[in-house]
Amino acid sequence: MKKLLRGIAEFRRTRPPGYVETFARLALTQAPDALLICCADSRVAPNVFASVEPGDLLVVRNVGNLVPRYAESSAAVRAGASVPAAIELAISALHVRDVVVCGHSACAAMRSIHAREPHDDQPHLAAWLRHGEPALDRLGPTPAGLAPHDHLSQQSVRLQLENLRSYPIVREAEAAGRLRLNGWWFDIGRAEVLDFDAEAGRFVPLDDARVDRLLEERG
Ligand SMILES: [Zn+2]
Repeated sequence: MKKLLRGIAEFRRTRPPGYVETFARLALTQAPDALLICCADSRVAPNVFASVEPGDLLVVRNVGNLVPRYAESSAAVRAGASVPAAIELAISALHVRDVVVCGHSACAAMRSIHAREPHDDQPHLAAWLRHGEPALDRLGPTPAGLAPHDHLSQQSVRLQLENLRSYPIVREAEAAGRLRLNGWWFDIGRAEVLDFDAEAGRFVPLDDARVDRLLEERG
């Protein structure tokens, strides 16, 4: 906490004049481009790797960057509504054009699912991680050069995109061309973000060529 508290005081003391104006403008409204769903892991730093500024991104962080499937019943809605609420806010109210699920290497949640740890004394963690377990049940052979839990992490990102599509508002917005779903994966050791290429069926670096192609598709 010492670094965190000192950092807040330092920001207050040294913030650039432009920031005061930016936040004064943002206090009135927000119009983020995208909803980013990423892991609570301290090493996953979207503000660093995506060069985003205040107001750019609506962010949901949770253990393992998981998305519960759409729940029909009110009891199920009450049981885990944080991510679904953010999906509704992002799409229905803020009209974001993109949703990104971003996994990462060396994810503790993915290691735990891969090892099928029981979490007997952590009932909430055990219940939460079930949203990622189907990725393990359908996991194929691990590609060369990738740790098994990292392979699971990448396949879980694909599963979470499927889970997003279980929401009628996501399916409708995607079908109408108002929304794109993106699967990213942050390789911590290489400090590199990969993007799921559906045509190639694998994650590829988000380099200039890939970004140019994605932006071209958006027109
Ligand atoms: Zn993680």
